[in-house]
Amino acid sequence: MQRGEKLYSGKAKSVYACDQDGALILHFRNDTSAFDGERVEQLDRKGIVNNKFNAFIMEYLEEAGIQTHFLKLISDDEALVRQLDMFPIECVIRNVASGSICRRLGVEDGIDLNPPTFEFFLKNDALHDPMINESHIESFGWASAEIVAQMKQETFKVNKLLSKLFADADMILVDFKIEFGMQDGKLYLGDEFSPDGCRIWDAKTREKLDKDRFRKGLGGVVEAYEQVAQRLGLEV
Ligand code: ADP
Ligand code: UDP
Repeated sequence: MQRGEKLYSGKAKSVYACDQDGALILHFRNDTSAFDGERVEQLDRKGIVNNKFNAFIMEYLEEAGIQTHFLKLISDDEALVRQLDMFPIECVIRNVASGSICRRLGVEDGIDLNPPTFEFFLKNDALHDPMINESHIESFGWASAEIVAQMKQETFKVNKLLSKLFADADMILVDFKIEFGMQDGKLYLGDEFSPDGCRIWDAKTREKLDKDRFRKGLGGVVEAYEQVAQRLGLEV
């Protein structure tokens, strides 16, 4: 499978056309960004680690009944996926408070959230991905009420499945962000699930094993991602 025309270059991945109908190639790059793209660095091996990590998680979710865009790995840092019309929306679930919710609501970092919270954000770097609600999504025509309900339901299912997967490997899935899109009238989980888009803590020490290592300049970013993969039984 060969890359065709480059269709889009995002902050961490590039999207290419290919010769399979209704499919695209996602190229996972080493670029690592924070603060809405204001800080960007190259982290050696990150593209490979995230591509393999994402493939493992997408296949796990697919087997558990979540419809995902993932079709197959085509190289160390490329995957073949269904071509989706993406919604400009991020779905975030939090099991433990950390990051923006603490800044926004003044709550303590590290408190358990029971039940977990659910939030929508608008994908718009220039506006710093503002939080939006179901009413905004409907009124501005970003998605229908039916799709909103479906995205929310699928995100909660993903949380249940992955919280257990990480817990069984002595890690806490603190929070995560996922994105959805449509192909032929069906909703699919798109984009990626990797330590770039979630928070994962060691269950005992609460050591950060995710992109917060980059945001906070803690170092050992890719090493931490590799450790998470290894604990899940994945060779990267
Ligand atoms: P960003 O656009 O936020 O900088 P990335 O660097 O991860 O993020 O770029 C990947 C882009 O590809 C995102 O805009 C994402 O919405 C889009 N995308 C992910 N999966 C698919 C898919 N299956 N079909 C079409 N677009 C996709
Ligand atoms: N997240 C993401 N992309 C974004 C915004 C958030 O992947 O554009 C992830 C982030 O890594 C975290 C979760 O979504 O796991 C919640 O992020 P939060 O709202 O706390 O924002 P942050 O403080 O991380 O910017």
